[in-house]
Amino acid sequence: MPARTDHAKLRGRSWRVLKDEFRKRCREVNARCWICDQQINYQAKFTDPASFEADHVKPVSTHPQLALIMGNLRPSHQSCNRGRGARPIDGAWTRADWS
Ligand SMILES: [Zn+2]
Repeated sequence: MPARTDHAKLRGRSWRVLKDEFRKRCREVNARCWICDQQINYQAKFTDPASFEADHVKPVSTHPQLALIMGNLRPSHQSCNRGRGARPIDGAWTRADWS
C-alpha cells in the first residue's frame, strides 16, 4: 500500500460524509464551540472565522487512526480550531455522548 500522509484522510469522500453528518447533529442541538463555549453560527459560510468546523479531540497528527471516528470530533469555531492547532486542551468542556 502506498504511504499516505495523515491529513490525506481528511481530503477524501469519507471525511466529507462524516463531517457533514457531524455538522448536522451539532446544528440540531445547536451545539456550542467546545473550545470557547460560545454559540456557533451554523449559517455562516466556510470563509467566516465564526463558522462551524469539526475539531479532532485527539489530533490527526498523533492519532491518525481516529481521524474518521465521529466520537473523536467536537464542534468548534473555525478560528478556535485553527488557533488551537494540535495542542491538547486542559479542562475544556467535554461530553462523552457524541459518539
Ligand atoms: Zn470557539
